[in-house]
Amino acid sequence: MAILHSHLQKNVHTYDSLFLHQGHKGRKAFQEQMGLVVQKLTEVFSVSDKPFNGQSPQQVKYEVEFMMRFSNGGYSLEEALDDIEGPILKNSLHISHRKSIAHLHCPPLISGIAAELIIGALNQSMDSWDQSTAATYVEKELVRQLAEKAELPDTADGTFTSGGTQSNYMGLLLARDYFCHRNWNHLVQEKGLPPGFEKLRILCSEEAHFTVQKSAAQLGLGKQAVVTINTDDRHRMRIEDVEDTLTELKAKELLPFAIVATCGTTDYGSIDPLYELKVLARQHALWMHVDAAFGGGLLFSHNHRENVNGLSLADSITLDFHKLFYQPISCGLFLVSDRKNLRYLSYHADYLNPVEDEEEGISNLVNKSVQTTKRFDALKVLLTFKTVGTSLLGKMIDDTIEVAREAAKQLDERAEFLVENPVPELNTVVFRFQPQTTEKDTDELNRLIQQELLYQGKAAISKTSINGRTGLKFTLLNPRTNLQDIKEVINDVEEIGREIAMGGYRFDKCERDS
Ligand SMILES: *Cc1c(COP(=O)(O)O)cnc(C)c1O
Repeated sequence: MAILHSHLQKNVHTYDSLFLHQGHKGRKAFQEQMGLVVQKLTEVFSVSDKPFNGQSPQQVKYEVEFMMRFSNGGYSLEEALDDIEGPILKNSLHISHRKSIAHLHCPPLISGIAAELIIGALNQSMDSWDQSTAATYVEKELVRQLAEKAELPDTADGTFTSGGTQSNYMGLLLARDYFCHRNWNHLVQEKGLPPGFEKLRILCSEEAHFTVQKSAAQLGLGKQAVVTINTDDRHRMRIEDVEDTLTELKAKELLPFAIVATCGTTDYGSIDPLYELKVLARQHALWMHVDAAFGGGLLFSHNHRENVNGLSLADSITLDFHKLFYQPISCGLFLVSDRKNLRYLSYHADYLNPVEDEEEGISNLVNKSVQTTKRFDALKVLLTFKTVGTSLLGKMIDDTIEVAREAAKQLDERAEFLVENPVPELNTVVFRFQPQTTEKDTDELNRLIQQELLYQGKAAISKTSINGRTGLKFTLLNPRTNLQDIKEVINDVEEIGREIAMGGYRFDKCERDS
């Protein structure tokens, strides 16, 4: 017994330097180790001068796996940081580089990174008030302020989410359950899908995010429930097409229950006509969900705010802070105009949100979320609003739109480029390189340009599909990306493109694919 006790005693002291706690050892270890992390990261940033170091997937995989063979623990953080420096830190995409302009994937603000440290250290869980005693009110208040910013009615409410995927899923879940409850007095939450559910239909743009289909599938309606609407030359849903589709669906005795408008499509940043769609949604008693994962950033814009005025008409809204609000992943928001409808999500677990709590006015946010344990992501937004401020945030976004417009103009002036959105509504530019003469198929050519730029570490741009053909895309989220950067990237695209087109390009493909 005495031996066991002394063992335990010794262990307890070992554990002291593994956790951040009130004691001296914990505080000291925390301070030292955070210092090491900051030092290592600043070192890596000081030498990584490309968006990506150009290693092949095989090489990265090999280095990562080799490093992980020794991960049985027991050595210092300093050594572990040295271990991961090459395989992870240097082999990562450097998203903060000015020529990292591929996806809706932002450089994180330092305020957001700092908040991540606090989030990890406090490790609050947003499901019940007794696990997030102050954090609960931060989230609630930010939800209120953002709903107000979107000019939703006083009945609005919402929740932080893991991102646009989860927010879109929630919007369609509420829309489905609201429809079944109101029209058939049927609670899906209790009884599952009602008879006739195969007739339910969701309308969205052909350019809407794929998570509309994915949500429909997960909600038991199947992808068949999603009817896509053609877009106009500015890539927005055609209202006449929505009208015709609604008439057609009714004639077939199908049941449209929701319309998803996109406020900032992933490719073109186009904004569907929210006012016109709301008129139709009212006429046909449809739930209007607005996917503003991308375009929601315009809420703080100084020059383009009016483009998102229609958000106030939504029944539910998706917003992402890990895109135009420059937060580290993940950080999303779901808003609903009438908080009553959140009841389709709520579930009483005696240990988390007993009815007595509600009677005493205690908020347990688990009621509003599809998650249980949930991160305190709201802190990132709070620290950013406090330090950077919403005015500068809005200006940053405005500046990136200017840069995107200038990039589109520069591309347009060159004979071999075809620009799909000459006046970008947000900060993406979609284009194709199509020289007069080429030995390669132009789809293949555009695909190779994107790959070559990445492997050479010149720029990370993305490829996308334009009416079934392969095109290229700049996503200019980074407000530090300047016109000189853009010019250089365009020159590189052109130069590499011409060489590949003439068949004179030497690919180090064997090395890459081996
Ligand atoms: C990014 C995006 C999504 C998906 O959001 P995640 O945060 O990646 O889950 C949905 N809709 C649109 C329009 C987007 O741009």
